[in-house]
Amino acid sequence: MCFGPSVRRNTRRTQVGDVTIGAGAPIVVQSMTNTDTADATATADQVFELARAGSELVRITVNSLDAARAVTAIRDRLAARGCAVPLIGDFHFNGHKLLTQVPDCAQALAKYRINPGNVGQGRRRDEQFAQMIEIACRYDKPVRIGVNWGSLDPALARRMMDENARLRAPRDAAAVTREALIVSALASAEQAERWGLRGDRIILSAKVSSVQELVAVYRDLARRCDYPLHLGLTEAGMGSKAIVASTAALAILLQEGIGDTVRISLTPEPGGDRTREVLVAQELLQTMGLRAFAPLVTACPGCGRTSSTFFQELAERIQSYLRMQMPLWRRDYPGVETLQVAVMGCVVNGPGESKHADIGISLPGSGENPVAPVYIDGERHVTLKGDTIAEDFQRLVEAYVRRRYASAPLAAARPAEESSAQY
Ligand code: SF4
Repeated sequence: MCFGPSVRRNTRRTQVGDVTIGAGAPIVVQSMTNTDTADATATADQVFELARAGSELVRITVNSLDAARAVTAIRDRLAARGCAVPLIGDFHFNGHKLLTQVPDCAQALAKYRINPGNVGQGRRRDEQFAQMIEIACRYDKPVRIGVNWGSLDPALARRMMDENARLRAPRDAAAVTREALIVSALASAEQAERWGLRGDRIILSAKVSSVQELVAVYRDLARRCDYPLHLGLTEAGMGSKAIVASTAALAILLQEGIGDTVRISLTPEPGGDRTREVLVAQELLQTMGLRAFAPLVTACPGCGRTSSTFFQELAERIQSYLRMQMPLWRRDYPGVETLQVAVMGCVVNGPGESKHADIGISLPGSGENPVAPVYIDGERHVTLKGDTIAEDFQRLVEAYVRRRYASAPLAAARPAEESSAQY
């Protein structure tokens, strides 16, 4: 199977720790913590969970002296757990002070995110922005210049609105705002380069919360520069609305070869799991055929032909099982992330869909014989029946993975304590 878009935008290559962004490198998944960064234990725990879920970069807010001082402790706690995921510091308003006053923080972070709308007002805006860029140069850190329409540089926005109003045929306010976002990002990048930051140390983003606006802004931004672009729909919201909106916007851009790193900004449900945003980002990239992270389960939605929820439970069980195995399988069975499994509810589409998968099962619908044919590599392999269909199918999946993806003499003999290591 071929992974990767047919045409990827040609961008510069930026290195963030060990992670390469741009220049055709695999699209990078990132996420952000929502803990108080000053609480090093809680933040390190959440970073660890996000990284374990597959976040390849994790952003933390650095908003106070206590937060800045906690960064090295967070890095140390992660190192003690074998987690080397690069940390990105998110700075607003006081980043110039924090990076100056806490050099260890400046050093420990792998990248700085700077919002040019939140670095200061008037003359101080340039001074403070320059100060942050100088620190990035000193510590050789890449910078994401991250513009957001909720915090667009007010002076720039005002000036562009005034200029537009004086035109004989003024554009509508939305078009001027889009242009202001792009100008803010590009002009800030130009300033940063003038102050010494290499062009291959710059990533741009220009986030808005409307799908159509985001698509329009990024298409234009991609046309006007060759910096790698970070994609994300800001303030996407909660639940299915947030997932649908983010997916709709990002899928259009990714399909056009635009975007080198992504974040899905989900507001978690109360008590919800922060790692969900990582999973959604991975599933977006995988279902588009851009990257593979974990085996995919194809399951039918069910209908009146199914007499029970057994097939839904089996699909869920297999999906969870596959995800749980991935830390070890990724190590022992290279390529297993491209495995495709089908769990289907009846004979109508079951055999056909199962044949398209690497391994698939067609469960009996209502009125059908209580048997479940299993297809492997397109051929009918065995027919399961009885009370142990779920366990039997799981065993068949496991055996298939071992047979197909085992490389060289496997680490079957690896010591048990090693088996939990994944970084
Ligand atoms: S495969 Fe069968 S059970 Fe599943 S949706 Fe189609 S007809 Fe319904």
